[in-house]
Amino acid sequence: MFKRFHFMLLALSLLALTTACSAADAAVQPAPPDTTPEAPRTDPDPSLTPPAPTAPNDDTLDQEGLSPRTTPGHVWAEPIIEGDTVTILLSVARMADHVHFEVPTDGDPASFVGYFVGNAFLVRPCVCPTCGAETVDWESGALACGTCPAMYDAVSGAGVGGAISYPSGLISNRIALDTISMSRLDLIAAYERTVAGEGVPSGGDDVCPVLGCC
Ligand SMILES: [Zn+2]
Ligand SMILES: [Zn+2]
Repeated sequence: MFKRFHFMLLALSLLALTTACSAADAAVQPAPPDTTPEAPRTDPDPSLTPPAPTAPNDDTLDQEGLSPRTTPGHVWAEPIIEGDTVTILLSVARMADHVHFEVPTDGDPASFVGYFVGNAFLVRPCVCPTCGAETVDWESGALACGTCPAMYDAVSGAGVGGAISYPSGLISNRIALDTISMSRLDLIAAYERTVAGEGVPSGGDDVCPVLGCC
């Protein structure tokens, strides 16, 4: 009797073990095959493609009397020089709020900046009376040096804040129907007087009160 019971216990144990193994087998079934999603398209989006570069529009540079030195915001006139007369075209002078031009000399060309104040056309050498650099340009209704901080009154040429003023006097010019004419000797004389430092300190006896150019 005891022996039979023992056999039955053994059989039950084997049965339990077999069941457990089956369950374990079920638990380690291989995973379903890997289903990698389709790779995203790599074709470039046409809407993101930058436009092809376009050639600069140089139509304006074909205008008569306009120098190829012209850059955005800085019109350069190509003067016509006949004897002592230097002529620039009114259409070029009026293209922007100021115009640059050069006059040949025995040495380097002398450069000038011209601009309208009302109906009057005013011309100043681009030489800075304060520091001597040839970097004076029109800036927001006044003349400003690009090398030192000096600024000048557009009409009187007086230095602002202690800068040395332009020499007294204006370069005369004649405005005709479509041209502006000046005397080459007048232009060069004004240029040389400015280079020579004939301007006077705008601040009275105080020669270098602000700029430290000397
Ligand atoms: Zn300019
Ligand atoms: Zn200067």
